[in-house]
Amino acid sequence: VGDLALSHVSFAYNAESDVLHDVSFAVRRGEAIGIVGPSGAGKSTIVQILLRLRDPQSGAVLVNGQDVRGTRRVDWQARVSYVPQASQVVWGTVTDNIRFHRDWITDEQVVAAARRAHIHDDISAWPQGYDTLIGQRANAVSGGQRQRIALARALVAEPQVLVLDEPTSALDVRSEELVQRSLQAIKQDTIIILVAHRLSTLSVCDRIVVMVDGRVSAVGSHTDLMKQS
Ligand code: ADP
Ligand code: ADP
Repeated sequence: VGDLALSHVSFAYNAESDVLHDVSFAVRRGEAIGIVGPSGAGKSTIVQILLRLRDPQSGAVLVNGQDVRGTRRVDWQARVSYVPQASQVVWGTVTDNIRFHRDWITDEQVVAAARRAHIHDDISAWPQGYDTLIGQRANAVSGGQRQRIALARALVAEPQVLVLDEPTSALDVRSEELVQRSLQAIKQDTIIILVAHRLSTLSVCDRIVVMVDGRVSAVGSHTDLMKQS
């Protein structure tokens, strides 16, 4: 995926109320874009449209300029990874959680993804570092680390597009920093779409779309928007 855009997207869950009105923005590979706005602004709806869990009533998601509806849903979803706000871990080890039923992924790939997601800052206290990580019970790790496991799980799939929904809103400052550092490194080769309700958590983004009441109210750089707010 070289570039991804929402083009004049409008969406309504029901006939009474429109949720998105003529929303357009674009993001290229090598870039991270932020979507910010108060609760109810339509951010999650945009995420669902990007993931093709919902189709807009009008407008389109464009991938390299082509309507994504020309691609089979499963093929699109194989290229996109999603990290939700508060990720759960499942039963088993950290490795089980990163691999998550993808049996073909090797331990080396799991460790590489764990490194990219900066899980290791917490496990530096563990005697054998990454070797220990392989066998560590996932439900025994901290909340911040759990979220970074979710990031590693998303990265091990080698996504071309990474969508993160408030990935750091429940994290302490240190964990948030580690996630930001990961995203900074990942964005060379992956389109990143980062959703948040606070502008301050979007410093990694090259451009930020401000949503208000289902409309794009501003687009700008992090510094420009911070100045205005
Ligand atoms: P945000 O993620 O910015 O908080 P959402 O996209 O979740 O915003 O919601 C935008 C609007 O759509 C809100 O008014 C919300 O109440 C409404 N909405 C969200 N999901 C549904 C749904 N499944 N059915 C009907 N309305 C919904
Ligand atoms: P599948 O997942 O079965 O391959 P698609 O992902 O191609 O189906 O289509 C999903 C939904 O999008 C369907 O409701 C289909 O009618 C609609 N759709 C597909 N292509 C277009 C298009 N070019 N314009 C508008 N809607 C479309």
